[in-house]
Amino acid sequence: MLFFSLKIKQFIHSLILATVTAIFIVVIPGLSQTVQVTPTNPQLGDTISVVIQQANRNLSTPTVSMDGKTYPSFSIGQNRFRVLLPTTPLDKSGLRQLQVTTNSGIQNLNVNLQNRSFPTQSIWLPPSKESLKGTDLEFDRVAAFKKLVTPEKFWNGPFLRPNNGPVSTIYGVRRYYNGEFAENYYHRGVDYADYNGSPVVAPAAGRISLVGLESQGFEIHGNTVGLDHGQGVTSIFIHLSSINVREGDMVKAGQQIGTVGSTGASTGPHLHWGLYVHGQAVDPVPWRFNGIE
Ligand SMILES: [Zn+2]
Repeated sequence: MLFFSLKIKQFIHSLILATVTAIFIVVIPGLSQTVQVTPTNPQLGDTISVVIQQANRNLSTPTVSMDGKTYPSFSIGQNRFRVLLPTTPLDKSGLRQLQVTTNSGIQNLNVNLQNRSFPTQSIWLPPSKESLKGTDLEFDRVAAFKKLVTPEKFWNGPFLRPNNGPVSTIYGVRRYYNGEFAENYYHRGVDYADYNGSPVVAPAAGRISLVGLESQGFEIHGNTVGLDHGQGVTSIFIHLSSINVREGDMVKAGQQIGTVGSTGASTGPHLHWGLYVHGQAVDPVPWRFNGIE
């Protein structure tokens, strides 16, 4: 009997909850979705993941805007979508307004982007050293590659380390050139200092979408591989000595794509790995250690 009345209580309780939810949906149709932002306290360089759970199928596929830019969402389940927002050391820290837009209206929410101090380097260049300017071919091809937003998601789980050498320069380092702070410069990736010819592997699955050779005009980047992980997430590997893949190849996480070198504008053998989200170089560390679904 006690059990029975408990059951009834539970039933009444869930009935009340259901009614409250239903009223919520009817009265405020624009809010019939829940939005979850990860990490809750993002810092400069983090990739912000916005997961939107919609209560019904009548809502359109959402988009999310931040700082005047609109980012697409991708389905990750029934009425469930995910948007990735890049942040970089060039962004201003502080309160950001995110706007989630569907056919039923706009939902605003605030995110506090935390400041973060990045190490600085001082570089002194003699005037003669500034001769390497790069070519239109490499800049155009790399820019087109970073714009890729393939609907499929190829990566799964945390990213692997693409090379076994020690990290020589972390993401986000700022620079002074000849004593002057370079406002638009930050180290757009992670450097691994390994010997010439050591293997470079795909940190996550994807499609090889760029192969560029120093001999074809990749003067600054040197031998280059661009790997498309899908949904606006791309990896670039530069200064390679050799390349084991061709454009269009699908590769698995851990599969060798090339070897470390010092081609292009490089002063010694190392791998530079840049991880991009919608064209912005983000910190790979959260992708390596936590993973971003
Ligand atoms: Zn680098």
